[in-house]
Amino acid sequence: MKSFDVLQTELAEGTTTCEKITEEYLRVIEEKKHLNALLAVFPDKAIEQAKSVDRKLQDGNAGALAGMVVSIKDLICVKDERVTCGSKILENFVSLYDATVVQRLRDADAVIIGKNNMDEFAMGSSTENSAYGRVKLPQDEDRVPGGSSGGSAVAVRAGMSTTSLGSDTGGSIRQPAAFCGVVGLKPTYGRVSRYGLVAFASSFDSIGPLALTTRDAASVLQVIAGHDPNDSTSADVPVPNYISQLTKNMKDIRIGIPKEYFGDALDSEIRQAVEKKIDILRTNGATIEEISLPHTEYTIATYYILATAEASSNLARYDGARYGFRTENAADLSEMYIKSRSEGFGAEVKRRIMLGTYVLSAGYYDAYYRKAQQVRRLIKEDFDKAFNDVDCLIAPTSPSTSFKAGDKMDDPLQMYLSDIYTTSINLAGIPGISIPCGEDHQGLPIGMQILGPQFGEPTILRVADFLETAH
Ligand code: GLN
Repeated sequence: MKSFDVLQTELAEGTTTCEKITEEYLRVIEEKKHLNALLAVFPDKAIEQAKSVDRKLQDGNAGALAGMVVSIKDLICVKDERVTCGSKILENFVSLYDATVVQRLRDADAVIIGKNNMDEFAMGSSTENSAYGRVKLPQDEDRVPGGSSGGSAVAVRAGMSTTSLGSDTGGSIRQPAAFCGVVGLKPTYGRVSRYGLVAFASSFDSIGPLALTTRDAASVLQVIAGHDPNDSTSADVPVPNYISQLTKNMKDIRIGIPKEYFGDALDSEIRQAVEKKIDILRTNGATIEEISLPHTEYTIATYYILATAEASSNLARYDGARYGFRTENAADLSEMYIKSRSEGFGAEVKRRIMLGTYVLSAGYYDAYYRKAQQVRRLIKEDFDKAFNDVDCLIAPTSPSTSFKAGDKMDDPLQMYLSDIYTTSINLAGIPGISIPCGEDHQGLPIGMQILGPQFGEPTILRVADFLETAH
């Protein structure tokens, strides 16, 4: 497994080519097929693309990501390829166009190698909700890689691509990154175009990179960030140079530790691992202070009301008529709708659609949906206040390390509680990065998050990059 800067050096020295790099990933993909991290592989197109990158490298006009091979979560459109969202209902649906992020990766000369397995419509925390089988954790195949971008995290961890794209609605980039021991970045809402991302909860969804290093994640963000006229929620805010700000200097940084994120729910080994990193930052000149995010206890409830409400509306379009799967036997139109949806969606997606429809229904709208919108504002204000005093926050990514497959499948609430430290960031629309932070006594990766204010990516990347090499 080589990070992008290592590959770039080798390319510059002439000891490898983009074609050879791509061939090696294709070999590993074949060798590690049983991990089930990829739903589609594009060997011919990838090699063809790699050859053209090699020609550009020779001519001296290659793009910023020449030599990087990327796999894409299967809810992001790649032209002329299937986009299943891990669902039977979109089994044979082919994208008509490239998502903006995919187009930008191609323009920067990254090679697109395949599509990552995922929880159906990105609903889940273990990648066990895929209609195409669960994804296995490379370190212990009886365990889960986290979710919903479990395939994207495993692809990077196992050496099937240099980086990958995931999506994060409530933690789906950061939590699998933590479980697999890789870096996962959820950018500010609106920083990266959602054009060509199949919607789960539109006011939360963010696309971001998973990578072996912070620097690699920053290189991908550099290319995919920026305004897009095709996404009205994408922000027209200039994109700074992320790489040049990775200074390894912590002297003027003020870091807040939200006390609510270090309560009883947190595993003690994770607490110790994160506290060790906080000590390193303190020793290197950062100012550390405890802060409070008082509405934290309402995060999970608020998220699961609002995200299911938005999902029930977004998923109404899969009716058997317009996309993908349609039932074989229906007597009339309404039976066709009902049966197509009943047969096409999995259990978790149906649960969310029912929950979302319930909280939006006339009699309950004020009690649930409107109330949750108000609490969302309070949660956002907690963060705004904190960022008046500090530049970033540090928190664990997940209350536990990877769990055994099957452990939480019968208890949705337990599964939802895997997200207690991640969903607030999506409610507030701010950026967060999860980086590896040691291992527990079973050798399972531990992750920690660095959270910043809106468009605070330069700071969180800087702290993450520092911690990667500091001891
Ligand atoms: N695990 C959370 C959920 O199931 C988050 C999912 C996501 O970020 N896509 O909703």
